[in-house]
Amino acid sequence: MLFGRKQKNPIRIPDKGVVEWKYTTCGYCSTGCSIEVGLNAEGRAVTSRGVGGAHVNQGKLCLKGIFEHELFRSAGRGRVPLMRDHYWDEFQETDWDTALDRVAGEIQRIQGEHGRDAFAIVSTGQIMTEEFYTLGKLARGVIGTNNYDGNTTLCMSSAVSGYKRSFGSDGPPGCYDDFEHTECLLAIGSNLPEQHPIIFWRLKQALEKRKFPVIVVDPRVTMFAQMADIHLPISPGTDVVLLNSLAHVILDEGLEDRAYMEDHTSDIDAFEAEVARWDPDSAAQICGIDADTIRNVARTYARAGAAMTIWTMGINQSTHGSDGVVGINNLNLITGNIGKPGGTSLSITGQANAMGTREWSSCSGLPGYRALEKEEDRREIAEFWGIDPEFFPKKRGLFQTDIFPAIESGQIRGLWLIATNPMTSMTNTARIRRILEKLDFLVVQDAYADVETNEYSHVYLPAAIWAEKQGCFTNTERRVNLVRNVQPPYAESKPDFWIFTQMAKRFEQGKKVTFPETTEGAFEEMKKLSKGRMLDYSGMSYEKIEKNRGLQWPCREGDETGAPRLYTGGRFQHPDGRAKLIPLPFEDNNERPDEEYPLWLNSGRVVEHFHTRTRTGKIGNLNKFSPTPYMEMNPDAARKLGIEHGKYARLVSRRGDAVVLVQLTQRVPPDMVFVPFHFHECVNRVSLGLLDPHSRQPAFKQCAVRVEAIEDQTAAAV
Ligand code: SF4
Repeated sequence: MLFGRKQKNPIRIPDKGVVEWKYTTCGYCSTGCSIEVGLNAEGRAVTSRGVGGAHVNQGKLCLKGIFEHELFRSAGRGRVPLMRDHYWDEFQETDWDTALDRVAGEIQRIQGEHGRDAFAIVSTGQIMTEEFYTLGKLARGVIGTNNYDGNTTLCMSSAVSGYKRSFGSDGPPGCYDDFEHTECLLAIGSNLPEQHPIIFWRLKQALEKRKFPVIVVDPRVTMFAQMADIHLPISPGTDVVLLNSLAHVILDEGLEDRAYMEDHTSDIDAFEAEVARWDPDSAAQICGIDADTIRNVARTYARAGAAMTIWTMGINQSTHGSDGVVGINNLNLITGNIGKPGGTSLSITGQANAMGTREWSSCSGLPGYRALEKEEDRREIAEFWGIDPEFFPKKRGLFQTDIFPAIESGQIRGLWLIATNPMTSMTNTARIRRILEKLDFLVVQDAYADVETNEYSHVYLPAAIWAEKQGCFTNTERRVNLVRNVQPPYAESKPDFWIFTQMAKRFEQGKKVTFPETTEGAFEEMKKLSKGRMLDYSGMSYEKIEKNRGLQWPCREGDETGAPRLYTGGRFQHPDGRAKLIPLPFEDNNERPDEEYPLWLNSGRVVEHFHTRTRTGKIGNLNKFSPTPYMEMNPDAARKLGIEHGKYARLVSRRGDAVVLVQLTQRVPPDMVFVPFHFHECVNRVSLGLLDPHSRQPAFKQCAVRVEAIEDQTAAAV
């Protein structure tokens, strides 16, 4: 009997009248699931389904992908360009020519009065790779500002920095298929089931076929930690200490792959000298993991025939983010676990096309992983674009996290934000509000007119969303997949690609540079620029990508398919061809709990929402399952403060305060609270976000707070 019923009712799938399915790629996270959107007889998108033959998701989608077709007509979309003189005025509707003329005029005025770098551009990880390439051409080759970055500094810059320091280049070396081969998985600061549900499903599939140890390092008992064989509840911000100590045990007990180290790495002596200091007993005092467990994990990892590490924001969003990534790479280099099936350092990326911006946007350099610091790279790109190499700066400008303080100091006067929402995503909301108010000119380009940051703009440009346009995304495992145009752009919104090319026409310098008319034309330029390089696209075409449901780079001219792994021959991108083993001294440099603010504040995702909820907050079922910000708190800690489950409490830090609904749970230890980061006027009202010195990524996940009971619950609920 089924819950009191005598018969099982058949499952009915409602007939939505689909007459055509169109292929595309999910626009939320970096997993890169292939989706088909169903259109009815009127051509309206009415449903979504996973693509059965797709290598990545094999027919599966998570909750967000299942409802993704609802985005096309979701509430808050921008219909027409809007303008006003001051941010406190009412917006007036306008036409595209007037809006673009105003933006170009303001950029030229600010640059004329205050210098080229006084106008900054901050983009995203959400638009297509061809759009990133075109924006890079516009920003670097036409507008000529060096203060140009992506919001990927908030999520992936530590991974980029760590890969560059260890291997000589960005580029995740592994792939999802490594789950099928590994004999030990170490996951650090990654709650895979909620962050990347389909990658988690791939891992579960592999584990069902063949059992291997799963070790999860996370200060919180996440969903992933609950299914792990070993959970290491580490003290926040001390991953480098744990990684040094794992390396210590491996070297001390002779478990390393000495031949691999000798043949493929450099700086072994300096590395060994630093690691010698981190015996497990000393490390345990700092990282909170007992010495025997450290030894056990080190032996398990080193003795596995192939072992891999995955990580996300628990590593990256720290004052030691870049060092944490280097520590993971060190571990895999000394055990010979790079470039072989099941052996890798795989950073799980956040946004759908964070990889595209890393590869092609020119934010941190020039397209195709080229560097502004290299004369040869500047000359090559200048020649290709038809401009003077002297137009390029000789080193990269400010990161996103330094652009905002530069506005505060008056160094930057104008800002163009593209598909990013700092009013919700940046730490210390009150400070960001003051900074945006200070700008002479702010243009917000976004699919949604109601995005919180638009409150401070002078011009709003309505962008087409996701599959209202065509182009590529690159996923976590370097797989380039195609977003086909499924619906026309909403109202008068335009593809970002069109906006960038129209903007270029309004600059004298833009007349020297050719901009292809289509994204496919831009893709052809990228193929030429990547030929013979590590990220070689020259063997790809839109048709071939769609036929294969995505192709991994490098995919060289004439290749049938892409390469699943990098560095298979042990040759790295540093000039000597070796990977660097880098010593990592640990300095405890973050804010820590004290008497006044006795709790750690940790933040993270829920499965229903993506980033600042600009999109998922509009989707009925996602909002229904996760409607409100909440705070996880340990029942013992709550009892002492008179805080009750289901009641509102005030979260207070040195930056500000936020009112949150309390959920009492043993998932967090007594000295920690956890709040999802998606909600406006919530966790980032209190967060600190000190920056990693290498990557300039903020330590979103670690700062000190206190929690206060609220007497007037009715007022708190408003
Ligand atoms: S796992 Fe990521 S890519 Fe796949 S459907 Fe969900 S949000 Fe989209």
